[in-house]
Amino acid sequence: MPKFYVTTPIYYVNQPPHLGTAYPTIAADVIARYHRLFGQDVFFLTGTDEHGAKVAQSAESVGKSPKQFCDEIADQFKKAWGALNISNDHFIRTTDSEHERAVKWALQRLYDGEYVYRHKYEGLYCVGCEQYIPKSSLVQGKCPLHRKEPELLTEECYFFKLSQFQDELLTRISKRELKIEPVQRENEVLSFLRGEKLQDLAISRSKSKVRWGIELPFDRSHTTYVWVDAFLNYLTGIGWLWDGEKFERYWPADVHLIGKDILRVHATIWPSLLLALGVELPRKIFVHGFFTVNGQKMSKSLGNVIDPVFLAGKYGVDALRYFILGAFPFGQDGDFSLQRLEHRYNADLANDLGNLASRLLAMVEKYRGGIIPTSGKEMEIDLNLRRLAERAFLEADKCFREFAFSEALARIWEFIRGINKYIDEVAPWSLAKKEEQRERLDMVLYTALEGLRIVALLIRPFMPSTSKELWNQLSIEEKLETQRFPRALEWGLLKPGIEVKRGKPLFPRIK
Ligand SMILES: [Zn+2]
Repeated sequence: MPKFYVTTPIYYVNQPPHLGTAYPTIAADVIARYHRLFGQDVFFLTGTDEHGAKVAQSAESVGKSPKQFCDEIADQFKKAWGALNISNDHFIRTTDSEHERAVKWALQRLYDGEYVYRHKYEGLYCVGCEQYIPKSSLVQGKCPLHRKEPELLTEECYFFKLSQFQDELLTRISKRELKIEPVQRENEVLSFLRGEKLQDLAISRSKSKVRWGIELPFDRSHTTYVWVDAFLNYLTGIGWLWDGEKFERYWPADVHLIGKDILRVHATIWPSLLLALGVELPRKIFVHGFFTVNGQKMSKSLGNVIDPVFLAGKYGVDALRYFILGAFPFGQDGDFSLQRLEHRYNADLANDLGNLASRLLAMVEKYRGGIIPTSGKEMEIDLNLRRLAERAFLEADKCFREFAFSEALARIWEFIRGINKYIDEVAPWSLAKKEEQRERLDMVLYTALEGLRIVALLIRPFMPSTSKELWNQLSIEEKLETQRFPRALEWGLLKPGIEVKRGKPLFPRIK
């Protein structure tokens, strides 16, 4: 059985889950569910990034120990992902003891391999932030948060020889041994690697500055800086160093989904660490865009940070999943607005899909006592709907494999609208009036119902609960969980003679 390993970034615990972190998580979930539909052995990893001075500071400001603080936020993430129907196979926390042990082992190995050396670090240190801040984030020479000039500090710390990997990275990325998509992101990385010299990377801080971190095994007065610790989650999340079989099974990752803000580090630091550790590189990094909310950047200070769990509660989790991936192309920037969400909810979900299911099943009840009729002789118009189903799958599948979720949904919705149009054109209500059209009506109802069965399958990765509900309404005996692509999409698998169970409207209209 082929395997597929997909990851989200691990999310920083200093910020509770919000729509911005829900976005790649839902996308990764759709990818994982899609590959499972083909019977692949999928591993889907997400988790939380928990070390660092800022976390310790936040914990202190609310009178908690860092561990207690992280436990609570990690729990919030787990609950939020549960509410959004996220099917991750594991939730990694960088404070997990196995992860911490593996990071120490890796640091020792880097040190023994002479990839790490001790050197003077000079930087601008803000006492308020308790950390070095890059010159670029100063505002008029002051820390924007504390309105104070940082001090120029020099300390000894440990550096990773990132600079020596420049050529190797350039080769691997341009040969697409490590793919970066969409292509404009690959170009960005390549031109950066061609145009700028990589600097060695500070990977430790003195414990007097950062206590809340993983200790260096070769110098216990230092903790490691976020990068080594955070990146290794992609390995430790699948049992690196303690579950060889699992690790061998899933590594290399088939895709890391990341935001554009962390592309450069993912394309330089991460593969360099792997090369230094002698571990194979991931196959692909896919970079998604950012979105604004009603045209504005989401931020705490603007008070427009959206809680995805609230939205899922208000509109339904599948509506949120549909909208968040359907609103704009995944690899591009976009905008999110509640007004558009409500508009698409009514148009695409309530009208197109919800109404299709309810009117079709109502007709089966009215004309055939709720029993799925037998199919008969196919006419051109029936054949066209069947062809539309085949095309919807082939085209959506192509989009899926390029992570073009909004386009995949558009292809599926073309098919849903096609079934509605079919029903309008064949007009079962007129056929029902004529006894000599009995067989024709059977055929028409069967064709539309079979279309609905295929819709239930096609939407499954995006809208797992709605898919299940449709499956139940169609009373299909075979468990939905056993249905595999592409076999289950063959036309004509719907069994006649079974009574449908019309349920409540799938998507009640929003007034
Ligand atoms: Zn500061």
